[in-house]
Amino acid sequence: MDICVVGTGYVGLVSGVCFSDLGNRVTCVDVDESKIKKLLEGKSPIYEPGIEDFIQKNLNEGRLFFTTDLKKAMESAQIILIAVGTPRKQNGEADLTYIENVAESIGQNLQDYKIIVTKSTVPVGTGKIIKEIISRHAGDVKFDVASNPEFLREGSAIYDTLNMERAVIGVESEKAANLLKELHKPLTSNIVLTDIETAEMIKYASNAFLATKISFINEIANVCELLGADVTKVAEGMGYDKRIGNAFLQAGIGYGGSCFPKDTSALVAIAEQAGYDFRIVKDVEQVNKEQRFKVVDKLKVALKNDLKGKKISILGLAFKPNTDDMRDAPSVDVIPILQNEGAEVVAYDPVASENAQKVIPNLQVTDTMQEAILNSDAIVILTEWNEFKEMDLTEVARLVKQKIIIDGRNIFSIEKMEYMKFYYASIGRKTVS
Ligand code: NAD
Repeated sequence: MDICVVGTGYVGLVSGVCFSDLGNRVTCVDVDESKIKKLLEGKSPIYEPGIEDFIQKNLNEGRLFFTTDLKKAMESAQIILIAVGTPRKQNGEADLTYIENVAESIGQNLQDYKIIVTKSTVPVGTGKIIKEIISRHAGDVKFDVASNPEFLREGSAIYDTLNMERAVIGVESEKAANLLKELHKPLTSNIVLTDIETAEMIKYASNAFLATKISFINEIANVCELLGADVTKVAEGMGYDKRIGNAFLQAGIGYGGSCFPKDTSALVAIAEQAGYDFRIVKDVEQVNKEQRFKVVDKLKVALKNDLKGKKISILGLAFKPNTDDMRDAPSVDVIPILQNEGAEVVAYDPVASENAQKVIPNLQVTDTMQEAILNSDAIVILTEWNEFKEMDLTEVARLVKQKIIIDGRNIFSIEKMEYMKFYYASIGRKTVS
């Protein structure tokens, strides 16, 4: 098939690259010239494990193209996938500016029948808006709109795309249904075929449910701390139950990233506009907002409320491991508080330091974990990178000034920390002191 992908971010680039690897001809378009320049050189503008090999292979084999020229990119395409951002507006709603701009441009350049598919996460009813915008410009040219929400996870995006658990296809015509089913055939046999509104809702319902699981286990963790129970064992005990499952039951400092925070608030706004007060998701958001500050409280207890002049080593800046994405990362809220209290904050992240410096003012970063923790008064773990899970605690003990670890991601066992004689405070478990 001939596919045009609009937007070369985490979703557009990965989808484009994977569809081309399956033998389709794919042209990816972006308005960001610097991204396209890099991509044409075979380099990825985002960090995503394995992606550069896929880009280079498919560029070399002549199936993958990059351009800033939408008109040219969509000329021969049967399918146009829209994968531009839908960030959160001040009032919590999803901002559809990028989507509407793309729809305008597609309408202006539409010469023959195409299926215009929204991969971006968009409020229920957006398919209709896209259709109206394109119709305004398209004259007599026939087209179909469709919704195909994306479920990939940053950090394992290629795997998730090639081993899709399900494809949700929201359509208005049989022609679009058949073509999109055909496109997804090599990726999954679980195809949920539905109308556009339902497909749009499936994405929000899925993300809000996952966010709910996280805030739920974090509240259990908070109660565990008060009662002397261990949340990791509680989660293990719950997770064997197939009705519950063990995914998304890791207590910690909550979720961040470009999806859950904006999608939960968009769902609340969508429900409100429909006249419904979505109470559970509002509480999920509130719990999550507060949870990230647990590490600050625990750090203050460990350092007896005196952070002034203390060297605090932050391990992990990205919102989760295996990505350089800093959107809504807990580090963005936590670090300025420590800086304001007079602490000397030094941070290390295997890949996100450069992006972090763009969003956290006066952030001092190091190239290695060892430099970050040298003479440290306390280590604060904000992201569960494998590199941190595997750290040599004997070496750590030698490098730091005080053997204090505040672990926002529960990456070490209590027994190990007792044995190594660290002060160790984590989430929903007893503090080792
Ligand atoms: P992103 O910000 O990484 O990428 C968006 C890209 O679109 C940017 O490169 C931008 O330059 C480009 N763009 C903006 N306007 C354009 C235009 N008019 N023409 C061409 N390109 C344009 O965003 P993302 O993380 O890939 O997310 C995209 C959508 O997918 C969002 O709605 C998001 O909620 C959803 N989503 C994201 C993820 C994820 O893990 N990142 C997962 C599932 C769904």
